[in-house]
Amino acid sequence: MQKEDCIFCKIARGDIPSATVYEDENFRAILDLGPASYGHTLILPKEHFTDLCELDEAVAEKVLGVAARIGKAMKSGLHCAGFNVVQNNGEAAGQTVMHFHVHVIPRYEGGPRMVNWTPGENTEAEREEILGKIKVELGK
Ligand code: 5GP
Ligand code: ZN
Repeated sequence: MQKEDCIFCKIARGDIPSATVYEDENFRAILDLGPASYGHTLILPKEHFTDLCELDEAVAEKVLGVAARIGKAMKSGLHCAGFNVVQNNGEAAGQTVMHFHVHVIPRYEGGPRMVNWTPGENTEAEREEILGKIKVELGK
């Protein structure tokens, strides 16, 4: 299914031209318009899913394989030192386009810094509390 007013649906189905690095029956991978680094790529499913929670299981099973192929091609083709696979879900997590997508971001020695988290701490009691809260939901 496509969503009429969705920019990534239009790009994924080819209605809006894009710099396409990879395409198959399920996905189109394009260069990001506002790249975090040289070669920053987005993998878009051709069907509309808002985020990971809505993603079709068959599509979900394939997407990491596509990211790996693109990442390997970046290492040999762009000579990046590594790459990040990033996927944002929800505004609070930094998602700005509400069509599921995966970022593949090449990383270079001395290259642009990426936002990172500051490691915190948790107590044994907190860990137990967290496990209980998530596991009860997974068991539903
Ligand atoms: P998000 O923050 O939702 O995880 O990432 C959205 C990404 O899509 C951003 O990195 C942004 O630069 C990119 N983007 C937004 N609109 C377009 C567009 O029309 N074309 C391309 N190629 N990238 C876009
Ligand atoms: Zn869409």
